[in-house]
This record gives sequence, structure tokens and C-alpha cells, in this order.
Amino acid sequence: MKAIRVHEFGEPEVMKIEEIDTPSPGAGEVVVNIMAIGVNPVETYIRKGIYGNRPLPYTPGSDAAGIVEEVGENVTEFKRGDRVYTSGSLTGTYAEKCLCTESEVHPLPATISFEQGAALYVPFGTAWQALFARAKGMAGESLLVHGASGGVGLAAIQFGRAAGMRVIGTAGTEEGLRLVRENGAHVAVNHTSPDQYMQILKETEHKGVDVILEMLANVNLSDDLEIIAPHGRVVVIGNRGKVEIDPRLMMRKDSCVMGMMLANATEKEFRGIFAGIAAGLENGYLNPIIGKRFPLSEAPAAHHAIMETRATGKIVLVNE
Ligand code: NAP
Repeated sequence: MKAIRVHEFGEPEVMKIEEIDTPSPGAGEVVVNIMAIGVNPVETYIRKGIYGNRPLPYTPGSDAAGIVEEVGENVTEFKRGDRVYTSGSLTGTYAEKCLCTESEVHPLPATISFEQGAALYVPFGTAWQALFARAKGMAGESLLVHGASGGVGLAAIQFGRAAGMRVIGTAGTEEGLRLVRENGAHVAVNHTSPDQYMQILKETEHKGVDVILEMLANVNLSDDLEIIAPHGRVVVIGNRGKVEIDPRLMMRKDSCVMGMMLANATEKEFRGIFAGIAAGLENGYLNPIIGKRFPLSEAPAAHHAIMETRATGKIVLVNE
């Protein structure tokens, strides 16, 4: 089978498509025939060698969707031919097939395309964990999704709107702002606008925002603390550098800043994540948005694209 392999850390072009052995399942394992693969920013950090200690060579990727090809002994929940999405894999998902443990495979409803299935785990799992497990967002509260036009942001808007929150989402382009509105934000604000914070405050009748999900903390955290409401919570989801803040801003409002990492979710939280995603797909309030698609062999182009700021939903790779 074909798979993307990384033999050295570096620029996107270190990813090469190669012919490798097709995996076969051991006990409790599942082989998935992959139709589409989700591309996440973290895969660019790992590829560069600046995140984690990934042994070389490896095949990138955790998110994919496809059809179960073969199951090993003791697999009880899945059989050949089932439509599934993945939340990790033993062999990497930038490939034609991947080997997963049974717990890394989840049913994909017939109403959700494979490309949408590949856009589920990291984006929707992160949005759920940040909004509900970390920030404890509640109906009636205001929510700012700061960076709402990408994979995690659009997922957060859909979850927040369905939960009864007043949702403000930001984007940096007209196309992004349109998507943010179409996906449930009550208001869309341009995060390149010099008066973005005034616009956001106005939307809260100058009370401040109860929950901020922050995609670029090194740029925005200091200003977020100016517009957070009393007892508000900022969850740092994305960060690409250092930032200086005035802790007095937090003292004054009993507000707090918390980090989150999807991989740190507890077993109970992961059960919540998968149940939350399943419920949203079943009830129709979750609808993953695909922005760009590339063939598997063009994984380097997909990595260049995901680091550009002009997000319009999720970037996926497809097996043709
Ligand atoms: P993505 O699809 O590439 O989207 C990036 C988002 O950031 C877009 O909405 C983009 O908006 C926005 N952005 C750009 N400049 C911004 C600014 N100055 N202020 C606010 N937002 C800005 O990426 P993603 O998959 O949604 O992930 C978002 C971030 O979260 C990444 O840094 C990623 O590494 C991180 N992440 C963390 C976890 C975790 O477990 N902590 C999990 C998943 C992702 P425009 O393009 O419209 O300007």
C-alpha cells in the first residue's frame, strides 16, 4: 500500500509517498481502508521536529475515515464493511490503510461523508474538551471563539450554539467571516480589525465575554484579559510563541486562564467527547466543513496550506 513516510525532520517536502507493507490486525485491532485523512497543525510541528520525540521514520496522522477492511480476534464492536472514523492509529493515517486499536475506531453515520469523518476527531474533540470539560461553558453564557474559521473554531461554534450560548466568532477574511456566521455564530468579527475588541465588547453590552477559546494566545491573550467578564474563563487551545500579560487583570475579575491539550483528557472525558460527537451528528447540529482537499501524494502542499492564515474549514487528504 501507499503511505506518506517521514525519514528526517524538516520542511513539508520531507514527506515522501512510498510503497510499504499493508498491516494486518492482531487481537483487538482493526485495519481501516482509508478514504479521507484530516490534516491538523500539530502534524506540521511534529514533522518539523519541534513537538514531541517522534522516532523516525514514521507515517503522520491520527484522523481518518473509511471502511473496516479486517478485524482481529476479540474485536466485538466492528466488522468488515463498517463505515468508521479514527481517533489515532498504530501506523499513522496519511496512508491508504491504517491499523488501529478497537478503541481508536468509531462508527461514522451514513449521513456524514468520509471527508467530514476525517474532520471529526481532533477538531471536534478539542472543541468539546475546551468548551465543556475545561471552561464548563453553559447555556446563557457568552462565548468568543477567537479564530473560528478553521477546524477547531468551526467545531466550537457549532457546539456552543447548540448548547445555548451567545456565540461570537472571529476570522481574518470575508470568506472566513461568512463561514463563521453560517455555522452558528450570532456575530462574526474580523480579528485583523484594529477595533475588534471594541466590537466584541459591544456585543456583550460591555459586560465582557464569559468564555474565550483562544487559537493564537501569543498574539491575543493580553487583550483577551481586558474583555473577559467577571468569573470568565480563557482556554488556550493554540499558541505559537511567548506573550506578556498583566495578572492584575485576572485578579480584578476573578477570571482565569487555563491550558488544554486534547491528549490530556481523562478516560471519562474521552467518553464524553465521543458521545458528544455522536449526539451532534445524530441530531444534525454538527456538520464538519471541508475547506480544501489534496490527493495523498500532495501532503506537502496540504502542510503549506494549513500554516497559511486564510482558513475556510478543514483541510483533508483524499485517497483516489
Ligand atoms: P486551522 O484550521 O489552521 O485554523 C487556524 C485558525 O486560527 C483560523 O480560524 C485562523 O483564522 C485563526 N487565526 C489566524 N490568525 C489569528 C489571530 N490573529 N487571532 C485569532 N485567530 C487567528 O487550525 P485548527 O486545527 O483550527 O487549530 C487551531 C490552533 O489550535 C492551532 O494552533 C493548533 O495547533 C491548535 N490545536 C490545539 C489542540 C490542543 O489539544 N491544544 C488541538 C487542536 C489544535 P483566519 O485564517 O481566518 O485568519
